[in-house]
Amino acid sequence: MTLASLPAAFADRLTRILPADQLPGVLASFAAVKDVAFRINTLKADPDRVLTALRAAGLDPRPVSWSPLAWVLPAADKRALTETPAFYAGEIYIQNLASQLAPWVLDPQPGEMVLDLAAAPGGKTCQMAAMMANQGQISAVEPVRDRYFRLKNNLEQQGVSIARTYQKDGRAVGALVPERFDRVLLDAPCSSEARFDLNDASSMAHWSPAKVREVAHKQKRLLLSAIHALKPGGVLVYSTCSFAPEENECILHATLRSLGDAVQLEAVSLPVAHQPGLTEWDGKALNPAVAHSVRVLPDALIDGFFLARLVKRQSTR
Ligand code: SAM
Repeated sequence: MTLASLPAAFADRLTRILPADQLPGVLASFAAVKDVAFRINTLKADPDRVLTALRAAGLDPRPVSWSPLAWVLPAADKRALTETPAFYAGEIYIQNLASQLAPWVLDPQPGEMVLDLAAAPGGKTCQMAAMMANQGQISAVEPVRDRYFRLKNNLEQQGVSIARTYQKDGRAVGALVPERFDRVLLDAPCSSEARFDLNDASSMAHWSPAKVREVAHKQKRLLLSAIHALKPGGVLVYSTCSFAPEENECILHATLRSLGDAVQLEAVSLPVAHQPGLTEWDGKALNPAVAHSVRVLPDALIDGFFLARLVKRQSTR
């Protein structure tokens, strides 16, 4: 695997984003046929019963140390997994481990008011509903019509009863329902760099530095909206599946600059390989607090990911 197999501008940027000793592993991950991770859905099933049924079907899932509900199978078993009664019944949900980390870091509690501001297809909404034991309320927002209906279908299939869905632009939500939520997840639309797959040229076809700039503009406005929708004292997780600092650290830097002491970045400790957020990009120094964010390093199992946890200290009204 060489840098030449990736879009040239992206490969050049990656050498500036990642430490040199991490680069070979990250490059190899773009060509890896990834194992399939799934989550057992406790809204529908008892984990022991699901595992017994999967083993009876000839599958042998491996546990994941940091989540008793996360399990992994070889990629070759994916089709067999999707043909099990447990899959059809919504007792499991196929979801990369990186994606499972965002609700894990947000840690929603039963009874809380939670906002999922960019929700489709809904893997994280379903995970949060399970963490909340279907107690409380999740408002799930998705503006894109076909994705919105996919979200609704997934919520129903997974037995989520506490979600209200809204086909809306997330940028408008903070002004519509200011300071209403205990926790907010903004799993932002992004350039999807961490989904690049060298076995699938279409995964990279729409990427360009201009696309990164365009999506970063939207992310900045979505994050401000998300913060306005958060109660003082509330917690927010911002995540993307992009490596680009413009979509990650620079968004946090700009938000801290415009909201000052009203928000604070909290340290995130993760049970998987990661790097602290960059505090300098393109010759520009960023707010040192941005180092509390984390960039998950991809390998043959986990996708690349970026995560930040913010606490709202004061009202932004
Ligand atoms: N959280 C989802 C999950 O775990 O299944 C994945 C979310 S995906 C990374 C980002 C989503 O944001 C996409 O479904 C996209 O259509 C949606 N989106 C795009 N523009 C948006 C906007 N202005 N407001 C809210 N969501 C938006």
